[in-house]
Amino acid sequence: MSCLFCQIADKTIPARLAYEDEQVLAFHDINPQAPVHVLVIPRKHITSLLDITADDDALVGSLVRRARELAGELGLGERGFRLVFNAGSDAGYSVFHIHLHLVGGRPLGWPPG
Ligand code: AMP
Ligand code: ZN
Repeated sequence: MSCLFCQIADKTIPARLAYEDEQVLAFHDINPQAPVHVLVIPRKHITSLLDITADDDALVGSLVRRARELAGELGLGERGFRLVFNAGSDAGYSVFHIHLHLVGGRPLGWPPG
């Protein structure tokens, strides 16, 4: 049984897609924490940030670059946005397929809760 985000990537489970190519997929978070809340994931299953290796450097870079492109397309380029990788229980990591949160569209508090 593949994981939730692998199933979104292979279209077994529906999601509101924002972007897809051969390696990367982006979709709107089901429980958005801001007016814009998109998750950017690799199609490759990587369990968490704790599992990336040097072989994943280009892939992780492409997640970041895609998130930045989407931020611009979604109107956040001027006003700002935040990219977040959660990892581990203190960060509330809950879906075990690496994902980059793109959050914006309202003032974002710092430090985060
Ligand atoms: P994290 O706490 O970093 O593991 O974040 C997991 C995120 O996945 C949360 O923001 C959830 O709202 C989101 N999420 C869980 N299930 C789905 C789903 N089926 N479609 C879209 N987003 C989801
Ligand atoms: Zn997966």
